[in-house]
Amino acid sequence: MDRTFVGTPASPGIVVGPVHLLRWEVPEVRHRIVGDEAIPEEIERLHNAFAAAKDRLRHVRARTAEHAGPEEAAIFDAQIAMLEDETLLAEVESNIRQNYGAEKAFDLVMLEHRQHFARHAQAMLRERVGDLTDVHIRVLSLLLGLPDHDPVDVPKGAHAILVTHDLTPSLTVQLDRDAIVGIATDAGTRTSHVAILARSLGLPAVLGLRDATSRLTGTERVVLDGSVGVLVVNPTEAEIEEYRRRAHSEAEELAELRQFATAEPITRDGVRITIFANVDLPEEADSAAGSGAEGVGLMRTEFLVVGRAVNPDEDEQYRAYARVVDAFGGRPVVIRTFDVGGDKLPASGYPTEANPFLGWRAIRMCLDEAEFFKVQLRALLRAALHGDVRIMLPLVVTLDEVRQVRTLLSEARSELALRGAKFRPDVPLGVMVETPAAAMAADTFAAEVDFFSIGTNDLVQYTLAVDRGNANLASRFTPLHPAVLRLIQRTCEVAVAADLELCVCGEMASEPLMAFALIGLGLRQLSVAPRSVALVKRVITTVRAEAAASAATEALAAPTAAVAEQGLRRRFIAEFGDAPFLRDRVAGGLAGSFVS
Ligand code: PEP
Ligand code: MG
Repeated sequence: MDRTFVGTPASPGIVVGPVHLLRWEVPEVRHRIVGDEAIPEEIERLHNAFAAAKDRLRHVRARTAEHAGPEEAAIFDAQIAMLEDETLLAEVESNIRQNYGAEKAFDLVMLEHRQHFARHAQAMLRERVGDLTDVHIRVLSLLLGLPDHDPVDVPKGAHAILVTHDLTPSLTVQLDRDAIVGIATDAGTRTSHVAILARSLGLPAVLGLRDATSRLTGTERVVLDGSVGVLVVNPTEAEIEEYRRRAHSEAEELAELRQFATAEPITRDGVRITIFANVDLPEEADSAAGSGAEGVGLMRTEFLVVGRAVNPDEDEQYRAYARVVDAFGGRPVVIRTFDVGGDKLPASGYPTEANPFLGWRAIRMCLDEAEFFKVQLRALLRAALHGDVRIMLPLVVTLDEVRQVRTLLSEARSELALRGAKFRPDVPLGVMVETPAAAMAADTFAAEVDFFSIGTNDLVQYTLAVDRGNANLASRFTPLHPAVLRLIQRTCEVAVAADLELCVCGEMASEPLMAFALIGLGLRQLSVAPRSVALVKRVITTVRAEAAASAATEALAAPTAAVAEQGLRRRFIAEFGDAPFLRDRVAGGLAGSFVS
């Protein structure tokens, strides 16, 4: 077997550890008929499996409460309740009495329930499917004597590498950092939210390995190199030593780069660029504030709700936002309203959709669920008293949405005033430009918004019709495609004409070559991963805006992303010199880059 698996470098860092293979899928069940005399024994097996599953769930619940808090742990209550449901037990027993083996009897009942719930008219019941599936997998694994692959229940101190087909952002935020030191998945790309989160958590990750879960057995040790994107299976001592050396020199490079963190980002020909940080979790606030960023260009708030059984109330949200605003002490903090949907699904509370990325996500969901949304708006208006808060709306496609938000904002203000709560009434409101609709029609928003921010992760996805999380399409995810560059240019022209602030907060801004292109296109604000602040500042202080502009003009005229990239690379090297992160890049995609 080839011991080196190659995937996408999704979050930098090198770690060594045992594999924790997570196959969280419903196992195949053979049809098994039992004789009448075996029926009592099968029923007893069923009861024992239910009892063992409940024990496991209580254990997982307690562990989750310990490292993620009581609200996260409450997710498991619904599953425990299912296992205590007498009717469910009676249905399975009835199948056993018709001579089905316990596992088949249980499998049939669960399949029926899952189908029934998935089609239910009530969203609340449809949302139970995820819990049913978890119970289905857990009990069947016990009945079939399969190894226990529990998503979040890895012993502390295991320092394991989690290998799984795909991870949800909700599961990622729940991971116990003392147990899991790295992530490897078959699916996913650099711009999928699991990758973005892994970078925020500082958890090395290699995604897009395609078939790692079927090639590994779970007994191996691996080196995971999240900077290059490889997994080395059962490494020799010499290989481990080599990777340790690499990890050390990476740490040194990073330390060397730190001197640029405090640099003023001015190009050699005197153009001032503002560098903000993206913050995904409130806990990141202090480290992001110390990264050299001049504020927050994007705070992703949806990670406060994904994976939660109960949504955070106004006070909890207020504290989370205020924590970030306080950490940045008066510097601007752009807080984006909940962008749930797509690949960021709450554990419960979201209907299944055929096309989630084109579905009921982000501002669409918030506008339809006005009471839920107003809790966030009230918390934001209160947190705005702590500093320079700006509210940003995701996935906007029409001005109507902005107008509806303004109505809800004025309701939120009245509600706060009625209660005598303190808040700032005049918080700036901006929109993300992350659909071709918003970019083409940017002028229609200009008079009614305070700023724009380009979300290139989604803009590329929606412009090129390339799923941002699909590993098979990673090389087609090309931010330098002429259509994308033209949409960015158009947005820039509208912002300049309307004298509105414009930032880019997608992953593109964190990439040296792309940052160079963006400055060339006229961008004067970039919001990047905190880890990339120093690097992007180094790029800015080394290049000339004039050279970037002529490189961007050339890229805009290129027929393909690959040609655009070649030209940009040549121009960039002429300005910056050669650098390790410029080699090994594949044409297009954010696939082969060195930094996050
Ligand atoms: C984007 O789409 O570029 C963006 C910044 O938002 P997110 O990655 O959270 O969708
Ligand atoms: Mg987006």
